[in-house]
Amino acid sequence: MAVSRTPLIAGNWKMNLDHLQAVALVQKLHWTLKDADHETGSVEVALFPPFTDIRSVQTLIDADKIPFAFGAQDLSAHDSGAYTGEVSGAFLSKLQCRYVIIGHSERREYHAEGDDLVAAKVQAALRHGLVPVICVGETLEQLEEFGASAVPVSQLKAALADVPADADIVVAYEPVWAIGTGKVATSAQAQEVCAALRAVIAESLGDEAAARTRVLYGGSVKSSSIAGLMREPDIDGALVGGASLLADEFAAIIRYQKHVGV
Ligand code: PEP
Repeated sequence: MAVSRTPLIAGNWKMNLDHLQAVALVQKLHWTLKDADHETGSVEVALFPPFTDIRSVQTLIDADKIPFAFGAQDLSAHDSGAYTGEVSGAFLSKLQCRYVIIGHSERREYHAEGDDLVAAKVQAALRHGLVPVICVGETLEQLEEFGASAVPVSQLKAALADVPADADIVVAYEPVWAIGTGKVATSAQAQEVCAALRAVIAESLGDEAAARTRVLYGGSVKSSSIAGLMREPDIDGALVGGASLLADEFAAIIRYQKHVGV
């Protein structure tokens, strides 16, 4: 039986926007989509503000019944205790976060997060009812040495090691050479790796999980590239960095179905 996957367009704000700017952007994005008569439900929208903005974003979304999900950009592998500066999945859950990004290449590179810590964070997310958005991707050197799929495939296998078959997860293929560089992977390149990642999900969690799990592409996605990416059978959405900070541009990405034939 074919399973349909609701497309997911996710905005990773990284370390941008304070809580007041966050509120302004959420409102502007909401109005922009409303003005364009965007059909809510055809695409899921998820926002990933900095930790300090989450409470404000949650309050606004809740009060105005805005149809956006939200989550955090990271979490601690621990649940509580003497871990100065870390944020527990329990706290994120209490703030009604649905998602948490784990293993973003900037965490792997600047915070020395390896596969073991990423796997531990995936477990922490699942313990607290959060959907982990597991990021994997290769650097330019790795692309040249091993090809496109090898590193993302091995990172995903490690992250899924102890994940139960019925877990709700999202996988994001983010080639490091495409993040913040303006160099988007071609649709065919992204499709090839996303298909390989879906095969890993099938091998690790079973065919049913592979059929229902959303695999996103991330790396310099813009409104001009999203339609081509979304035409690929194994790409179920996008994790968007820079372009998610611009309400008009992010709204155009969310509305890709309007220009999917372009
Ligand atoms: C990201 O940081 O996850 C990302 C994809 O960034 P950008 O869209 O700016 O390349």
